[in-house]
Amino acid sequence: MVNDELESLKQRAKKLAMEKSYLQLIIQLMGRISTVSGLENTIDNLLHAVIDVLGGANLILYYKIDEAIFYTDVYGKKQKLEYIDDQHVAQVYQSGIHIECEHDFKDTQLLSVEFTKAYTWIYPLKVGNEIIGVIKMESLHIGMRDLYAHLPIFFNYTALILKNEILGYTRLQQINQQLQQEIIHRKQIEKDLRQAKTVAEAANQAKSIFLANMSHELRTPMNAVLGFSKIMQNDPDISASQRQNLDIINRSGSHLLNLINDILDMAKIEAGRIVIEPEPFDLGELIRDIVDMMRERAENKHLHLFHEESSEFPRFIEADPYKLRQILINLVGNAIKYTENGRVKLRLSTKAHSETDKTWLICEVEDSGTGIELADQNKIFEPFIQVGKNSSQKGTGLGLPITKQYVHLMGGSISVRSEINKGSIFRIELPVRNISETEIMAITPPQQPVIGLAANQILYRLLIVDDHIEGRLLLKKILQPLGFQLREACNGLEAVEIFQQWQPHLIWMDIRMPIMDGIEATQKIKALPNGKNTIIVALTASVFLDQREELFTIGVNAFISKPYRIDEIFTCLHHYLNIEFIYQSTEPVSNYAKCIPLDCFKRLPMELQTQLYNAALELDIEQSLHIIDQIKKLDITVAMILQCYVEQMDFQAILDVYQQK
Ligand code: ADP
Repeated sequence: MVNDELESLKQRAKKLAMEKSYLQLIIQLMGRISTVSGLENTIDNLLHAVIDVLGGANLILYYKIDEAIFYTDVYGKKQKLEYIDDQHVAQVYQSGIHIECEHDFKDTQLLSVEFTKAYTWIYPLKVGNEIIGVIKMESLHIGMRDLYAHLPIFFNYTALILKNEILGYTRLQQINQQLQQEIIHRKQIEKDLRQAKTVAEAANQAKSIFLANMSHELRTPMNAVLGFSKIMQNDPDISASQRQNLDIINRSGSHLLNLINDILDMAKIEAGRIVIEPEPFDLGELIRDIVDMMRERAENKHLHLFHEESSEFPRFIEADPYKLRQILINLVGNAIKYTENGRVKLRLSTKAHSETDKTWLICEVEDSGTGIELADQNKIFEPFIQVGKNSSQKGTGLGLPITKQYVHLMGGSISVRSEINKGSIFRIELPVRNISETEIMAITPPQQPVIGLAANQILYRLLIVDDHIEGRLLLKKILQPLGFQLREACNGLEAVEIFQQWQPHLIWMDIRMPIMDGIEATQKIKALPNGKNTIIVALTASVFLDQREELFTIGVNAFISKPYRIDEIFTCLHHYLNIEFIYQSTEPVSNYAKCIPLDCFKRLPMELQTQLYNAALELDIEQSLHIIDQIKKLDITVAMILQCYVEQMDFQAILDVYQQK
């Protein structure tokens, strides 16, 4: 009895131990199929895990994705099936109930009895009533039969994982499909856009070429209209009302011509016909020209136009002078146009370039005008955009787009900072090439009035003091051909030393220099024996009047602001050294100076202009010359011409100049 019970307890213990190991096997299986993700990986893992643990000849999984049937076995065979060709599997799919088939291998001589039976188990993988797939395990060992009872837990778990992976896979497929469609769609749009762009570009170019040709055709008759109306205006026989009408024709014509010119430029840019033509040129002269030209416009509106230049700003460079000129005229012109009170400043400086033979030119045009709203600051560079009140009455809306295009073509950039009612600063940065001494010498100088020195004059010694080689070169270019004796110094200290050995008649003295500046050098020279008799002409880019005063008090005889006009140099030499020149017209200086530059006269302080006018009215030679002496400190050229008028008793000329301005 006790033995029986003991035996039964042993049996139970053995069974429990078996069950425990089966459960451990199941847990192991579950663990193995949970380690990966992705449908294919999960299936491979499942098949290999099951065959490793349960054994058997083959293991096949059937599953469906959107009604399509797939077959995968443990040997790696994978295929899509038209239909399920295995009738047992089809049956399980139908019924949802598993099937066991027993194989009998008793005829086999090689196997012992317990190995003659094997099973094929076909299991549905279900989530609730839904069949996710069917697993077929072929020829499993009979000894594994007890494991059956535990397999449903594993297969339910497998079904859940498989369902999840199939869902993920279908979603991914859908997304892929959508993406592919989107890519196809995008590619089509890109193709359409490219085609449209080519068509539009061709049309735009045709339009630009048409405009360029048309504008050119329009310009020729327009020039004739303007030219002839100007001639008629000079006709003394026309009546006042006819003159008024001619004025209107002229003003409207000029406006139209500006418009045509702007359209022509814009059309040429768009048609790709504008090319940059860099050449070495005198930048100082170009700036001076522009400032002189625009000053009249500024003064008509009672605005101060001045220009400020850093001492490093080069006099000669290589760039496209015509484009640069246009850029600066547009910016300064706008500054004057959109400013009612105050000032317009052209500020020039440089910044180092990464390439050693280049420099960045920085030009800023600052005004105290209407300013531009922040939201409009980008728009104004687009063609035909005009912002702010009344701006459409003042221009075409093409100036800035043309300017921007030129700046970009030249490899530079343009920007604007502005505040409403305070003013604007337009800034351009342009890369330019520094040029060599030989290139500077080769630049054709502008038409010079002087062709030589009059006979029987002493050989004058002139000392050029400037730390910048190009500053020295320019003066050399002007003076050497005339036969002057020249020497050069790179700073004040050298200038003092050369003065002591060489005693020049006149010194062209730059002010800002390293080692010893022009002020100290002037003071030292003037304090030396003979120093007082030497004429010192200061050359500086500074515009400040108080600095000029300081220069005169330390003994500077005259002042020429940089960039200077060449004739200012001759006028200065004539005035201070009494040098007589041979002019192209072969007439002496007094006659050469017949025509006064009106804009320079207008730049003189109003008080001096009026005093001179009153003195001329009273034919007062002494008073006139006294006033002209004061003018000499401000503009030697104008003063010399005025002096000629007085010396020839031509007071009418002075009255005319005053009334014309
Ligand atoms: P426009 O021929 O009208 O002057 P632009 O292209 O030169 O054409 O300038 C475009 C617009 O930008 C102008 O209509 C004006 O509204 C604005 N603008 C340009 N420069 C200035 C400035 N210095 N101050 C204020 N507004 C300016």
